[in-house]
Amino acid sequence: MGSITLKQVTKSFGDVNVIKPLDLEIRDGEFIVFVGPSGCGKSTLLRMIAGLEDTSSGVIEIDGSNATDTPPAKRGLAMVFQSYALYPHMSVRNNIAFPLKRAKVPQNEIDAKIESAAKILNLGDYLDRKPGQLSGGQRQRVAIGRAIVRQPSAFLFDEPLSNLDASLRVNMRLEISELHKSLDTTMIYVTHDQVEAMTMADRIAVFNAGVIEQVGTPLELYQHPVNRFVAGFIGSPKMNFIEVAASDDDPTSCLGVRPEHLTITNERGLWTGKVGVVEHLGSETFLHVHIDGIGTLTVRDDGDCKVEYGDIVNLTAPQNRIMHFDSAGNTIAEMSWGNDATTASTTTQRA
Ligand code: ADP
Ligand code: MG
Repeated sequence: MGSITLKQVTKSFGDVNVIKPLDLEIRDGEFIVFVGPSGCGKSTLLRMIAGLEDTSSGVIEIDGSNATDTPPAKRGLAMVFQSYALYPHMSVRNNIAFPLKRAKVPQNEIDAKIESAAKILNLGDYLDRKPGQLSGGQRQRVAIGRAIVRQPSAFLFDEPLSNLDASLRVNMRLEISELHKSLDTTMIYVTHDQVEAMTMADRIAVFNAGVIEQVGTPLELYQHPVNRFVAGFIGSPKMNFIEVAASDDDPTSCLGVRPEHLTITNERGLWTGKVGVVEHLGSETFLHVHIDGIGTLTVRDDGDCKVEYGDIVNLTAPQNRIMHFDSAGNTIAEMSWGNDATTASTTTQRA
């Protein structure tokens, strides 16, 4: 079991309110990611769930019981930190055994649990090494191993991959996803990296300045963002925003179109501009097109795109891929993802 429910939970440090009244239901067994820019309160909320930070008001329920004031060790949760928090003078074996020894678990049980965790995490050959003799990825696996042996009802990860280099991060991302599938245990994973969120999550909660803007599956957030913040945060490269003047009969104050939905056309198109930087990634090309009076639009094109710096290009996008936002940033016309490309949910064409 590992369901966690937050009811009107808040947190203030002195006068500073960092978590606004917040509700969230985390289902047993799900992989939920808290994503948002640095400083928006993700770690604070995770630490409140862990019991490492007290809750200013509201209720935290774990498996249906009020755990708001339960001490961390009694919550049945295990936290994995970005900094690994390993004991440098202890072997890998003893680092993993530490929480079990402290809980006075019998030695034969400890040995069996270490063996099983080492197998899951491929640490069998390293059990007698010290953390200093391991790579960053191996150290992170030891930290996860120490969490696994406790058989928690949920794992809490706070930016666990931030200290790893890019290729190792991709590997560890896959390993943690695999681990979730095999353990079938609730995982709450904090990151500022929307790619990690999109690739790992069953559901994502998008945080902004102490509130959750939207909760949904990766595709729900990509296809149906409720506001400009979520639209701009989810997706890479970011959605392009084009400011327009709202009027009495059309409250649209901003259009949004993703780079992958813009195409270069020989027709007149919606926008015309001059190509700036061209980024060739091999499999795809990103063009940064400067449009008078609008700004720079990022366009995603094929890998073998022949457009060059300084070219003049016309850009277009299907009507049903152009989002409209009001002056408060809320979505008023969203992308339509039906099969029929003509069923545009956007009504007006603005150029
Ligand atoms: P995130 O993990 O999303 O980057 P944090 O939860 O660490 O953000 O921080 C949220 C806000 O709370 C930040 O403005 C941070 O400065 C503030 N904060 C965090 N911990 C403390 C603390 N112990 N005392 C005062 N302010 C804090
Ligand atoms: Mg943080």
